[in-house]
Amino acid sequence: MADKNSKAPGNVPGKWYVDTNCILCNLCEQTAEKNFAAGEEYDYVCQQPESEEEVELCKQAMEECPVEAIGDDGDS
Ligand code: SF4
Repeated sequence: MADKNSKAPGNVPGKWYVDTNCILCNLCEQTAEKNFAAGEEYDYVCQQPESEEEVELCKQAMEECPVEAIGDDGDS
């Protein structure tokens, strides 16, 4: 499970975030391309999901992440 106390740099404020366990595999960017982007060391949430469809894609990305670095329990 991702740790909201170890958020990667660049996450925009909100529920969704990437933490520093990210290994830059780029999978989440492919699954939810509007919401995740690659940083220098880690991915980050570049835009919080705004529609149900985007939320579903973020959930899918969270399930697919090989190191459980995606969380949805950040700031509301
Ligand atoms: S799927 Fe997980 S490990 Fe891969 S880039 Fe996204 S947050 Fe990082």
